[in-house]
Amino acid sequence: MSFYSEKMIAIAAVREASELCRAVQSERDSDAIKKVDKTPVTVADFGSQALVCSRIRRAYPSDPIIAEETSSMLRQPENEGNRQRVVHHVQNLRPDAASEDILEWIDYGGHKLQAERFWTLDPIDGTKGFLRGDQYAIALALIVDEQVVVAALACPNLVLNSAPNDKGVLAIAEKGKGTEIYRLSDMQKIGNAEVSAITEAEEIRFSESVESTHTSHSDAHEVATRLGISKDAVRLDSQAKYVVVAAGDAEIYMRLPSSRRYVENIWDMPPVRLSSKKQEGPLPISQESP
Ligand code: AMP
Ligand code: MG
Repeated sequence: MSFYSEKMIAIAAVREASELCRAVQSERDSDAIKKVDKTPVTVADFGSQALVCSRIRRAYPSDPIIAEETSSMLRQPENEGNRQRVVHHVQNLRPDAASEDILEWIDYGGHKLQAERFWTLDPIDGTKGFLRGDQYAIALALIVDEQVVVAALACPNLVLNSAPNDKGVLAIAEKGKGTEIYRLSDMQKIGNAEVSAITEAEEIRFSESVESTHTSHSDAHEVATRLGISKDAVRLDSQAKYVVVAAGDAEIYMRLPSSRRYVENIWDMPPVRLSSKKQEGPLPISQESP
């Protein structure tokens, strides 16, 4: 079965969202807004989600979307300024969109239950990296019958060793058809993703999160030492790490829980097991208490 059309929609969606994210990041006043769970969100997270969700809804009106953000914060009077900034950035790319349309588009991503066929979106993965001006990704996947069949990762600040002059890459995969890597700006093909052939411990480069609250740097260091890995970890934010490994710029990605209570979200990591019948949300990676 081919998912070519879905792949094209996914590419267009994450590229448009990248354009908005770049515009917001270049303003240099992309302050974080705090969510109820204290994690940061920015104008770009909301704008990116509005653009991607509206495009998917237009192409596939009956496909549910499970995405990270909701418009509820933006509808609060104290967030009027942020709402206006989201609307401004989306309207730069979609001049005909009304403010209420944009809030509605964000909420197309409010689906909670996994379905036989659904999309999942992290409008900005690595928001902390985005706020630092570092790496972040727009991560979109289509899941059918519990399998990821299309996945698009746009990494606007990523530079790969194979294309040192190209800042911004897009990795796109269709199940059974491999992963291709393109220059984000104009879709010039950089190459097919090919993992590294290196197996000698002393040559191995491992990648991990910048944030020590997201991964245990000390546990990763210990694992690396026991494996005889001597090179320093390559630290970068977001799912850009997957692209780095897929493209052969690192051999290993280590993400070792820093808290046993943390539950992975489906837009960050495909769950070990998906089942629309047995569960109603992301699977916990651990049921143990700390
Ligand atoms: P990274 O950029 O690799 O550090 O990962 C960013 C992602 O980490 C965010 O999208 C969050 O969903 C996720 N995250 C937030 N808190 C934690 C945590 N305590 N442990 C693991 N991942 C987390
Ligand atoms: Mg994320």
